[in-house]
Amino acid sequence: MKTAIYGMTKTQLSEWLVAQGEKKFRANQIWEWLYEKRVDRFSEMTNLSKQTIALLEEHFELAPLKEIIVQEASDGTVKYLFELPDKNMIETVLMRQEYGMSVCVTTQVGCNIGCTFCASGLLTKNRDLTAGEIVAQVMQVQKYFDARGLDERVSHVVVMGIGEPFDNYDNVMDFLYIINDAKGLAIGARHITVSTSGLAPQIKAFADNGLQVNLAISLHAPNNEVRTSMMRINRRFPIETLMEAVDEYLEKTNRRITFEYIMLAGVNDRRQHARELAELLKDKKKLAYVNLIPYNPVSEHDQYSRSEKEDVLAFYDELKRNGVNCVIRKEHGTDIDAACGQLRSKQMKKKKAVRA
Ligand code: SAH
Ligand code: SF4
Repeated sequence: MKTAIYGMTKTQLSEWLVAQGEKKFRANQIWEWLYEKRVDRFSEMTNLSKQTIALLEEHFELAPLKEIIVQEASDGTVKYLFELPDKNMIETVLMRQEYGMSVCVTTQVGCNIGCTFCASGLLTKNRDLTAGEIVAQVMQVQKYFDARGLDERVSHVVVMGIGEPFDNYDNVMDFLYIINDAKGLAIGARHITVSTSGLAPQIKAFADNGLQVNLAISLHAPNNEVRTSMMRINRRFPIETLMEAVDEYLEKTNRRITFEYIMLAGVNDRRQHARELAELLKDKKKLAYVNLIPYNPVSEHDQYSRSEKEDVLAFYDELKRNGVNCVIRKEHGTDIDAACGQLRSKQMKKKKAVRA
C-alpha cells in the first residue's frame, strides 16, 4: 500500500524529497497544493515537473478515502462512511456548532478496548490508521464544503471517533502536528480535543508533546467497581493509577481536563455516584470539567438505557453543589446513527448478511 501523503509532516516530506535528489523547497509547494489549493490529483500540481509528479504518484496516495455513504441530519450534522484502499471502512462526523465547524475523526479500524456500552468496541481492532488517513478525513470534510461553494472552514477537531487514539499514539501525534501547522490546516491547538479511555502512560507522555491540545478522559464512573463493569481497561489502569497520571499531566501543563461521563440509567447516575465523583475530583476543582453525555443506545448493548432527564438534572445539581464544573452535552445527529461506530457496524452487518 502506498503512503497517504497527508501523513507527511513538512519536515518529513522535505527530507524525503532531498533523499530523492529533489529540491527542499518543493515541500512548501506541495503543501500549498495539498492544504491551500486542495487539489485531488498530483497532476494538478502545475508548478512541479512531470518527473516530480511521477515520483510522487509512484510513492504516495493523495486520496485514500472513498465516500461510501454521506448522511445529513436535520440539525446539519453530516456523517461519512469511507472506504480505505484495503477495503476497511471508517466513519467521520461533521458537527455544525455555534462556535464553528467541528470534525470528529476515527483513529483505528475497530477498537480493542471493548467498552461494554460502545458500538466501536463490538468490532475488534483490525489495524491502526496511518497519520495520513486521519488527516484525510478532515480534508474530505473541507473538500465537502469546497465542492458546494460554501465559504466554511473546519475550525475544530475532536479525536472521538472509532478507536483509542493513545493505542495509536505516534500516528495520532503526527496527525495533530500536521493539522495544527500554520501551513497545513492551521487548526488552533486549543480547538483540538483528544479523548482517551485512560491509558495512563500515554496521558503522562501527552503532557510533554509541546502542543496546547485539550485532553478528555472517558471516566464514566466514580469508582472501580462500576468502571470495571463498563470498561475492562479499568483492570489495567484502575482509577487510582489513572488519577495519578492525570495529576502529573495537570501539574506539568496546568491545562484543564474534561472528564466524560455517559449517563446510564441505574448504573452510574445515582446521587451517591455524583457525590463520589465530586470527592474524586475535589483536589482538581479548577482544572476539572465534567461533561455529562446522553447515552446513544446501541442495540447489541441492551443492558443499558439512557438516564431519565430528572436524574441527569439531579446529578448535575449535586456536582454543582459540590463545586464541580459541569455541563450537559448537547446531542448531534441522533436521526442518523451519529454515535461513533454505529453507521459502520450497521454496514458491516449488512455485508455479512449478504455474504451468508
Ligand atoms: N476511545 C476514545 C475515543 C473515542 S470514543 C475514548 O473512549 O475516549 C469517544 C467518546 O464517546 C467516549 O467518551 C466514549 O465513551 C463515548 N461513547 C462511546 N459509545 C457511546 C454511546 N453509545 N453513547 C454515548 N457516548 C458513547
Ligand atoms: Fe474504544 Fe472508546 Fe469505544 Fe471504549 S469507548 S470501545 S475506548 S472507542
